[in-house]
Amino acid sequence: MRVIVVGAGAVGIMHAWHAVSRGHEVVQIERESEARGASLRNFGQIWVSGRAGGEELETALRARELWEGIGRRVPGLGFRPCGSLTPLRTGAEAAVAEAALARPDAVARGYKLLTAEEARALNPALRGTFTAALWCERDAAVEPRTAQLALKAELLASGRYTFLGGREVRDVVGTASVRDDHGDVHTGDAVILATGAWLGGLVRELAGPELPVRRVRLQMMQTDPLGEPLTTSVADADSFRYYPAYRGEALDALNAHQPQDPVAAEHRMQLLMVQRSDGGLTIGDTHEYEHPFAFDTVEEPYEHLTRVVEAFLGRPLPRIRHRWAGVYAQCTDTSRVVHRQQVGDGVWLITGPGGRGMTCSPAIAETTADQLGW
Ligand SMILES: Cc1cc2nc3c(=O)[nH]c(=O)nc-3n(C[C@H](O)[C@H](O)[C@H](O)COP(=O)(O)OP(=O)(O)OC[C@H]3O[C@@H](n4cnc5c(N)ncnc54)[C@H](O)[C@@H]3O)c2cc1C
Repeated sequence: MRVIVVGAGAVGIMHAWHAVSRGHEVVQIERESEARGASLRNFGQIWVSGRAGGEELETALRARELWEGIGRRVPGLGFRPCGSLTPLRTGAEAAVAEAALARPDAVARGYKLLTAEEARALNPALRGTFTAALWCERDAAVEPRTAQLALKAELLASGRYTFLGGREVRDVVGTASVRDDHGDVHTGDAVILATGAWLGGLVRELAGPELPVRRVRLQMMQTDPLGEPLTTSVADADSFRYYPAYRGEALDALNAHQPQDPVAAEHRMQLLMVQRSDGGLTIGDTHEYEHPFAFDTVEEPYEHLTRVVEAFLGRPLPRIRHRWAGVYAQCTDTSRVVHRQQVGDGVWLITGPGGRGMTCSPAIAETTADQLGW
C-alpha cells in the first residue's frame, strides 16, 4: 500500500509512522520546508492527568504507551516519564485534588496527594510557597521542536518513506490523488489530510463550511536555562478549571469562593511548565477563541505567569528568551477526541484534537490505521 500524508505535524507524522511500521510506503507532503504548526509550538506535554474519563483518557493512556515505545527507538524525541505536580495553596484547591483522587480511574492516572515536603523530594526546584501537591505519575514530556525531525530521520531510514517539503497540496484530483502547488500529482491507496488548524482553502472546499472544528490561539514563552533541574512538569490549580477530569462540586466551590486572578480569567489562563533539554522552561498558556485573532502577543499574561512560577520556585525566573503564539484546531464538541471525516474517494481529513493533539497523536493515528485496514 502507498499512503499520501499531507502535513508533517504530530498527527501527520504519526500516521506516517504507523503506515511505515505496518510495511507500507509513505509520501509525506508539507507546505513549509519542515512542519511549522502547533506541533512544534506546544509544551511537548504527554498529558494524562486532566483528561475526561472514558475515551479521552483511554486514548491518552494508549498514546503515552506508544510514545514511550517510540521514544525508546528514537532517543531524539526526548521522551521522559517525568510526571507532573500541581502545587496547592488553599483548602479549596486541595478539595479539588481530593475529589480527583476519589475518581474510579485515579489509579490509572497515577494520582497521589503529596505534602509539600514529599513534592519537594520529587522536584527540589519547588522551593516556594504551597501546602500540598497533586502528583500525576503518568504525565510525560517530549521535545516538540525536534520530535518531528527525529521521527522523520527514523522514517527515512526505513527506505519506504519520502518527505516532500515546501509543497502545498491544493486539490484532490481523483481517487486517493492530490495535486501540489508545483503541479505534481501524488497518487496512493489512501490520502490522509493532517493539515492541523488550516481549516480554510482546500479543507473548506472538501469538508464544507460546517466543519465542527474551531481554532484556538495560545501564548507561550521559554526562558534561558534555569541552572538546575525541574524534574517534573508543573501546573497550577487554574488548570483544574480547564481540564474535564476535575469537574464536580469541589471545582464549583473553587470557582465560587476563589475566583481566578482577573488577568488569568480574562485570558483564560492556566500555568503549565516543563523543562526543555537545554534547561530552559517552556511556560504557558492563554486561550483565545474569538476571531480575528490578535496578531501580536500581549504582556499581561506573561507577567501573571511569571508571578505564579516565581511563587512556586521561590526564586526569580531566568530571562525570557522566546515568546510566541500557536493555534490548534479543536472539535467544537470538546468531548470528541478528534474529527475524522472521509472527504473524498480514498481521502480522509484528521483534525481537531485540540490541546491534547501532541499527547494523543500516536493513538489517533493507530485508530486510523486500524479503521482503514492498513
Ligand atoms: C501553544 C500550544 C501548546 C500546546 N501544548 C500541547 C501539549 O503540551 N500537549 C498536547 O498534547 N497538545 C498540545 N497542544 C496541541 C497540539 O500541539 C496540537 O493538537 C497538535 O500539534 C496538532 O497536530 P497537527 O499535526 O494536527 O497540526 P500541526 O502541527 O499544525 O501540523 C499541520 C501541518 O500541516 C501543514 N499543512 C497545512 N495545510 C497544508 C497543505 N495544504 N499542504 C501541505 N501541508 C499543509 C502545516 O504547514 C503544518 O506543518 C498545544 C498547541 C499549542 C498551539
